Amino acid sequence: MLVDCDPDPVEEAAYGYCRRCECEVPIEERDFGIGRDEAYGRPIVHVDMQWCCCECGDQL
Ligand SMILES: [Zn+2]
Repeated sequence: MLVDCDPDPVEEAAYGYCRRCECEVPIEERDFGIGRDEAYGRPIVHVDMQWCCCECGDQL
C-alpha cells in the first residue's frame, strides 16, 4: 500500500497549451459574457468564462 502520496498542491496558476505560443503557458479565466441582458422577457446575466493564455491573451 502506498502511503507516500503527495497531497494535491494548491496551485494558484493554471497551465495549459497555447497554440499560438506553441508551449505550456500560465492561463487565466476571463469572462467573455455580455453581462446583464434579457432573455424571453426575463433579466439574465450572461457569463462566459473562457481559459486564456496569460502570454498572448488567446483563448485556448
Ligand atoms: Zn499564448
